[in-house]
Amino acid sequence: MKIAVVGSGYVGLVTGVCLADFGHEVVCIDKDASKIAALERGEIPIYEPGLAALVAGNTAAGRLSFTTELEDGVRDAAVVFIAVGTPSRRGDGHADLSYVYGVAKELAHAVSGFTVVVTKSTVPVGTGDEVAHIIRSTNPDADVAVVSNPEFLREGAAIEDFKRPDRIVVGVEDERARAVMAEVYRPLYLNQAPLMFTNRRTAELTKYAANAFLAMKITFINEIADLCEATGANVQEVARGMGLDNRIGGKFLHAGPGYGGSCFPKDTLAMVKIGQDFDSPMRLVETTVSVNDQRKRAMSRKVITACGGDVRDKTIGVLGLTFKPNTDDMREAPSIDIIRGLLDRGARVVAYDPQGMKAARELIEGVEFANSAYAVAQDAHAVVLVTEWNEFRSLDLARLKRGMKTPVLVDLRNVYRHDEVAKHGFSYVSIGRPQPV
Ligand code: NAD
Repeated sequence: MKIAVVGSGYVGLVTGVCLADFGHEVVCIDKDASKIAALERGEIPIYEPGLAALVAGNTAAGRLSFTTELEDGVRDAAVVFIAVGTPSRRGDGHADLSYVYGVAKELAHAVSGFTVVVTKSTVPVGTGDEVAHIIRSTNPDADVAVVSNPEFLREGAAIEDFKRPDRIVVGVEDERARAVMAEVYRPLYLNQAPLMFTNRRTAELTKYAANAFLAMKITFINEIADLCEATGANVQEVARGMGLDNRIGGKFLHAGPGYGGSCFPKDTLAMVKIGQDFDSPMRLVETTVSVNDQRKRAMSRKVITACGGDVRDKTIGVLGLTFKPNTDDMREAPSIDIIRGLLDRGARVVAYDPQGMKAARELIEGVEFANSAYAVAQDAHAVVLVTEWNEFRSLDLARLKRGMKTPVLVDLRNVYRHDEVAKHGFSYVSIGRPQPV
């Protein structure tokens, strides 16, 4: 089957490459010429484990190609995926649909024969109706069916998630499209991937509901962590005690500095706006957004308190910048608020991240960058672990301490145990875990 994917970012590229790996003939389209040129040279513009090898293999096999020309790319395609960004619109938090609508308009005249247009981008309820309207009003002769097929992959595990998903939600309004979508995912279906067909609006809402729920779950355990700190309970054990209950489940119950990333912050905000638009307020999600916003900044106060209440002219080392490990994505990372909070109080901040420093340089002013965890600790009055990359999970604590001015470790991911850190003479602060007396 010939498939075109418009937008070759985290989702579009992974979708295109994995569909090619299933045996489909895929062209990935992006208007960013430098991205396409890099992909054609075999360079991967993002960091995602396993992606480079899969791109190389499928390009060599002739199943995967890249172009900036939307018209050429979609002409013979039976299916066109739209996987462009839907960021928060400046000022009001609504999902910015201008890229999605722009693609709909562009492809209206370019498609030929019956074509299934699939929205993979995360879009508010009713967007599929508007995409169909745009295509029909631009080209009344276009024979298209618009489908919603939201993506649930996680950055850092994107290929595995795409190839072995918990479910594939497909919202269709047209029986012909249903058959085509079943064919797109057939190679996966043999592996018993649960393909769930529903209507378009339900599929669109399912994505927001899932993300809002996960963001709420994280925020819930973060508030429990605060309560643990106030009461002397241990949040890791509370989470375990909760999570062993199958009705709750243990995932997304790790207390930390607050959620970030390219999805949860914008999708929760958009969900609040959708609720307002339909006169159906999303109070829990509204509260989640506000609790999480305050938490990110509160983490810098936690560091300041650990440093005796003042960080002016002190050096704070930051380990990890990306919103989670195994990605280079810095969008809405908690590290940004934490570092800004420290800089605002007069600290000198030195940071290191295995993949995120390139993007971080453009996002945060006034930070110095080091090339290893141990370099970050040099002359530091405190080291803050913000992102739990593997290389920060078993640091040589004696070595870390050696260069530091004062041995203070603030562990915002609860990677370490108090006793093992204290043994090395650190003063240690973590999230929601009592200090032994
Ligand atoms: P991204 O910013 O990494 O990629 C979007 C790409 O689309 C960019 O390369 C951009 O140049 C391209 N683009 C924009 N307009 C275009 C046009 N008119 N023609 C061709 N290309 C165009 O975004 P992403 O992280 O891949 O997210 C895409 C969508 O998927 C969003 O709606 C997001 O919410 C959703 N999503 C993302 C994730 C994730 O983990 N990143 C997971 C699930 C869903």
